[in-house]
Amino acid sequence: MKKKNNKSQSLPEKNKKPVLEDTNLIKGYGLTQRLNTLIEITLQIDAVSDRSEIYDVLRKESKWLMEYDVLTLAYLSPVRSFYSIVTLSPIADATGLNETYFSIEEGLPGWVIRNQSPIICNAEKCAGHSNSFEGKFEEFGIKSFLAVPIRSGQDQVGALLFGSVSEDHFTDDDLVIAQSYGLQIAVSLKNANFVEDARKRITQIESTNEISKILNSTLDIDDLLVSTAEAIQQNFNYFDVTLFLLSEENSELIMKAQSGNYVNYLTGDYRQNIGDGIIGWVAKHGEYILANDVSQDPRYKSIENHNTRSELALPIKIGAMLVGVLNIEDKKLFAFDEMDVLVLQTLCDQIASAIANAKLYEEIKLANQKLTELDSLKSEFISIVSHDFRSPLSSIILAGKALLKNEDIQNNPRFKEYMQLIVTQANRLHQLAEDTLSITRIESGQVNIAFKVVNVERLIQDALVSVRTSNRHTITYNIDPNASFIKGDHQKLRQVVQNLLSNAIKYSPAGGKVAINVVEQDGDEILFIISDEGIGIKPEYHDKLFQKFSRVDEPDSKHIKGTGLGLWICKEIIEAHKGKIWIESEYGKGSIFKFTIKKSDS
Ligand code: ADP
Repeated sequence: MKKKNNKSQSLPEKNKKPVLEDTNLIKGYGLTQRLNTLIEITLQIDAVSDRSEIYDVLRKESKWLMEYDVLTLAYLSPVRSFYSIVTLSPIADATGLNETYFSIEEGLPGWVIRNQSPIICNAEKCAGHSNSFEGKFEEFGIKSFLAVPIRSGQDQVGALLFGSVSEDHFTDDDLVIAQSYGLQIAVSLKNANFVEDARKRITQIESTNEISKILNSTLDIDDLLVSTAEAIQQNFNYFDVTLFLLSEENSELIMKAQSGNYVNYLTGDYRQNIGDGIIGWVAKHGEYILANDVSQDPRYKSIENHNTRSELALPIKIGAMLVGVLNIEDKKLFAFDEMDVLVLQTLCDQIASAIANAKLYEEIKLANQKLTELDSLKSEFISIVSHDFRSPLSSIILAGKALLKNEDIQNNPRFKEYMQLIVTQANRLHQLAEDTLSITRIESGQVNIAFKVVNVERLIQDALVSVRTSNRHTITYNIDPNASFIKGDHQKLRQVVQNLLSNAIKYSPAGGKVAINVVEQDGDEILFIISDEGIGIKPEYHDKLFQKFSRVDEPDSKHIKGTGLGLWICKEIIEAHKGKIWIESEYGKGSIFKFTIKKSDS
């Protein structure tokens, strides 16, 4: 066993003067006594579950175990090529090495970790001596070290390092104590890691649920990306989160949202070329990159004011198609692990489907807008054209009718036949123009009913004028004196009666009788009945015929020309008058069309 040197309590002059702890507390303690103290400290360590709480116990209690001026823990990273420093005594704190990282090829802790062997040495003669590690301690007058592995079974956790301002300070007893200490600390740190891991996973699952809710809450892509980046950053407590979307030309990534510590450094329209940097690589290859030390990754492209040391970038894909990249950066080395990758990949899938939904919604909205515009243009065009058709056609019909009465034409059967044809076809065109105009008006909600007193006989006579182009049918009408007046729109009701009459003629053989009866019903209601002796309509068609473009599909009516619009227009006009219209028909014997109109408009 080595003899202890007389310990000097004074430190060399330095700018920073850390407070020295009383390190003579255990002078004279035997090994057994120190091992008992170790058990007591171990109990204290076992009682806490957080890594930081374990470090607090080490900082406070280790002085009862060993005489030292410096206590430092080297924590091996999960990828095992780096260790991070936790300083646990005032001089160690003063070195500024806390939370710094070293390669395991460097420094005394690196040597201990690599060789899994303890070491007692005097400063510059230490194996693996490095100016950036031991050198820092030497600046504070540290002259000797004791370093032991922190290991439980095969599991390496790191190394524990004691330092002293005296040369040859540490003894074999110190070595035994430090090694046992290293073993106990290893078990506790492993347990703490386990608990921390479990806690992190639970938070990740809860956070994923939270973010899923946000993803389902909006169909606006920009809002969606902004709130998602914010939610990921805050829920997972990441240093900085950015979301990029692929440009339309697929050549660049455009930054769409950012949350975290770098928000003030990149402008809102920041773009990065595909293939450029880590995110560019991810976009190009459609695979994620987990770079826990960006300085070792040649794809990393440094950005001004970013002190990034770890980066995790994941592709956002809809099926096999890339739409964007989720990028997370941290100023710490080894900030991310495979579990982060797994959780964020699930989130990227959800972001992708939310983007797909939002895009679909945008497309449908746009298409709908275009269709509405087109439809109103079309309606406007049709209404202008059909309106302009009617006046010349009316003149042709009037002139044709006048000519038909002419004696010369009456006496020339060929002329008469041609004239008759002109008038009939002009009438059809006129009807078509009128129907088309009515449709566009009805569909654009322009059926304004001007409720006025309507003389029922005048209404029927006006309708008759328009339909009576041949004398092949007998048309009679009868109006109940109590039903002489109604409240409604003369022009529109004329159109209804005219449509029903021309159908009665159209779908009846020559010589058939058409009758119009108008009767009072229930005091305030007038019932119009238009009956013919024509082909009739099978019951299964009765309701359908009032729908737009609906026609009877039977051999006896199929050849008769029509559009299937007349009855629909009648229904719309009657319903706008708060009345009802229906058919009562016996197939092969004739049809009866009935509609009701109020006497008053109340
Ligand atoms: P169109 O007569 O131009 O086809 P309508 O809407 O006026 O359109 O009529 C729809 C269908 O109802 C007609 O195609 C016809 O088959 C049937 N229909 C209408 N009125 C009668 C009627 N009085 N007698 C027999 N069938 C009729």
